[in-house]
Amino acid sequence: METEKVRLLIIGSGPAGYTAAIYAGRANLSPVLYSGLQPGGQLTTTTIVENFPGHPQGIDANQLMEDMRQQAVNFGADIRNGVATKADLSARPFKITIDDEKLIEADALIIATGAAARYLGLEDEKKYAGMGVSACATCDGFFYRKKVVAVVGGGDTACEEATYLASLAKKVYLIVRKPFLRASKIMQERVMLNEKIEVLFEHNAEGLYGDNGVEGVHLVKRLGESDESHYDLPIDGFFLAIGHKPSSDIFKDYLEVDKAGYIVTEGATPRTNIPGVFAAGDVADPHYRQAITAAASGCKAAIEAERFLMK
Ligand code: NDP
Repeated sequence: METEKVRLLIIGSGPAGYTAAIYAGRANLSPVLYSGLQPGGQLTTTTIVENFPGHPQGIDANQLMEDMRQQAVNFGADIRNGVATKADLSARPFKITIDDEKLIEADALIIATGAAARYLGLEDEKKYAGMGVSACATCDGFFYRKKVVAVVGGGDTACEEATYLASLAKKVYLIVRKPFLRASKIMQERVMLNEKIEVLFEHNAEGLYGDNGVEGVHLVKRLGESDESHYDLPIDGFFLAIGHKPSSDIFKDYLEVDKAGYIVTEGATPRTNIPGVFAAGDVADPHYRQAITAAASGCKAAIEAERFLMK
């Protein structure tokens, strides 16, 4: 297998990875960054980012990520397409396999692999994948103009996706398992005030039906302590917005992770249990998961990597 030796390898191209690359580039560490499955990271699946400081009118998410990428390139980061498929962190240099065909040996490693959307685990989600099931409203909402869709979840993502879909679709059902929304007040208000959105509290999706793609969802509604009612709701699209799973699988044999799979770091630092391996962004953050917090942790990881490499 082709092997290449680098000083600092960064895996992931969200705000954490790119910020780490900007700082590491400026520190003359010649960072090599592999972009992963989704260049630009999760943010590229959204539309306008309204809460990234410095952009009072909001900024297009793809533009923000492209700007970060360009800034990293300007400082000498070597940004490549490719997915880390295997890791051996048992000894230095750390060995990371890219696309199962190339081995990178790195003196220091920054893991900024982010997180991926979670699914309910229904067989029908697989059956109708790409045929009415989606975990990204901003990617697929366009296909549901003037149609009826359902969004599952009660957090900020679900509210954001429901609001976005309501701007395109005829009707949006928000399927929430609890009797309340967990989202921030401002997002809840946007949902509640939107005439096209109907919130179905204490509902769960049990399955989907349809001959040519999704035509409806089997729902169960909780009625009091022990009673429930089952019914079918015709829909054209089924969107998941129930949180994310950190992309840490290939590192689990070496790094401490919590029960959800988030990489455990030392206090507020990006240091993992292996000196020279740092984790930044959503892969190590079950709490905040914001672009700005990911960028900040990418910055910390690059500073830590620099100190480690200077030793
Ligand atoms: P959250 O973990 O906040 O919410 C997940 C939602 O999905 C909850 O309502 C949860 O229900 C529900 N859920 C989870 N599993 C299931 C299941 N099996 N069946 C039915 N429902 C389920 O995830 P988000 O992705 O919404 O948000 C993640 C973080 O990102 C949060 O900190 C959020 O504030 C932030 N965020 C911020 C935004 C912004 O500021 N613009 C936009 C989007 C996200 P339950 O409440 O019952 O647990």
